Amino acid sequence: MSFADLGLHPELQRAVAEAGYTTPTPIQAQAIPVVLSGADVMGGAQTGTGKTAGFTLPLLQRLARHASTSTSPARHPVRALILAPTRELAMQVFESVRTYSKYIPLRSTCIYGGVDMKPQMQELRTGVEIVVATPGRLLDHVQQKTISLNQVEILVLDEADRMLDMGFIPDIRRILELLPAARQSLLFSATFSDEIKKLADQMLKNPQLIEVARRNMVSETITHRVHPVSAGMKRNLLVHILRHQPDAQSLVFVDTKLACGRLAHFLERHGVAADAIHGDKGQAQRTETLEAFKSGKLRVLVATDVAARGLDIDDLPYVINFELPHTAEDYVHRIGRTGRAGRQGNAVSLVCAEEKHRLAEIEKLIKREIPQEVVPGFDPEPEFFEAGSRGKHGRRAPAAKAAEPAHEPGGRNARPPAAKPEPRRGGRPSVAPDGFDYSKPYEPAQPAATESSAPPTAETEFRAGAPRRQARPIAVLLGGLGRK
Ligand code: AMP
Repeated sequence: MSFADLGLHPELQRAVAEAGYTTPTPIQAQAIPVVLSGADVMGGAQTGTGKTAGFTLPLLQRLARHASTSTSPARHPVRALILAPTRELAMQVFESVRTYSKYIPLRSTCIYGGVDMKPQMQELRTGVEIVVATPGRLLDHVQQKTISLNQVEILVLDEADRMLDMGFIPDIRRILELLPAARQSLLFSATFSDEIKKLADQMLKNPQLIEVARRNMVSETITHRVHPVSAGMKRNLLVHILRHQPDAQSLVFVDTKLACGRLAHFLERHGVAADAIHGDKGQAQRTETLEAFKSGKLRVLVATDVAARGLDIDDLPYVINFELPHTAEDYVHRIGRTGRAGRQGNAVSLVCAEEKHRLAEIEKLIKREIPQEVVPGFDPEPEFFEAGSRGKHGRRAPAAKAAEPAHEPGGRNARPPAAKPEPRRGGRPSVAPDGFDYSKPYEPAQPAATESSAPPTAETEFRAGAPRRQARPIAVLLGGLGRK
């Protein structure tokens, strides 16, 4: 099947061909004709399936009759509204809209929070047919009367389950009230909880259900592995693992923004080019971090679930769960970043005794037992193997892969200390010896006085505009591993 077979206009076919797509993905093959017919859609599809083009291409085709080269704002009312839960996802969807609308004179823009509203107001004032937005900022514009939604013909709600997790549903309901009742609505979600179904009932009329993969199904090309380890030794084990896969990029998940910053900082201090991405960072910094990761300048991106949602990173070989997520479905979301499009992927989880119940929930959801492997020198707490656990099946890694712990400050050949749980929140001194304040979300370190007065070096050039940290060999910055 080709895009022409789906009835897409030649202008869209051309844009798609230039994007390098030859065959529609399963969700595109199903969604494009349905959306073109004008029907509402309830789509079950995760990121990585090609769902963005699945709704954007027919949306553009339906709006093509309004395409106009007129400069009058009145000729460019908002006709399509695409809501996304995060700024990153909104930007990615917007990029797709721009790519596919290359040969159709329809205007589009992207509005999200965390940045100045004025440039967005300016753009809205000139008139745009397609608005990609995060809900909060959209409502800010509604309040400021800088956007009018009374001519919207098509509404897309992307990643509705994440909207729910992030508490956006009341905002969505407010937005729904501002839209004309006669419109086409599309709702996409990776999972369908009762609350999502309730929202769908309110938002959609006789929707066609489109599902490309079974709910919560995980790709068969992903190898899952659990390393039972004590909570206090997780960071050292992570460095150990990263040293044994020196070229591979990894997305590492943690539970909180604070943990995110701490871990990125720890990895940096152990010679791993790492950075953190979470909601407290400014938009420019998040975009820069993501670009650094995509370009390979960073080896490790430490992220929270919210920040990582919707990130489109091609060919990511490793997803590492530094902590298992609280809900099993988030495990499926997280590991969906690897093993995409038939490629091989690895989902590695560091699991302490406290997280055993989360592991059980995940295994129940994905309907498989995940092989366990204790890395020598990184044993879990004794409770991990206590009754009720299937930890006794855990295999030890071959002795040849002896631990090379990176705990501080003993150096790479020092033996790991006896499993000593890391002090939990509140137990840790708030300022580390090197000045890093653990009580605050991660911020890049200020350049030292000597650094700023020194002439630019390869390092400072590389870091221009990027977070500056202690000087390190350039090889490390380009993805190599530091030696102590
Ligand atoms: P999405 O699920 O929309 O986030 O898309 C995931 C990735 O698949 C993006 O990088 C798209 O550029 C890519 N993609 C979308 N449709 C196709 C297609 N028909 N053929 C090849 N790649 C595609």
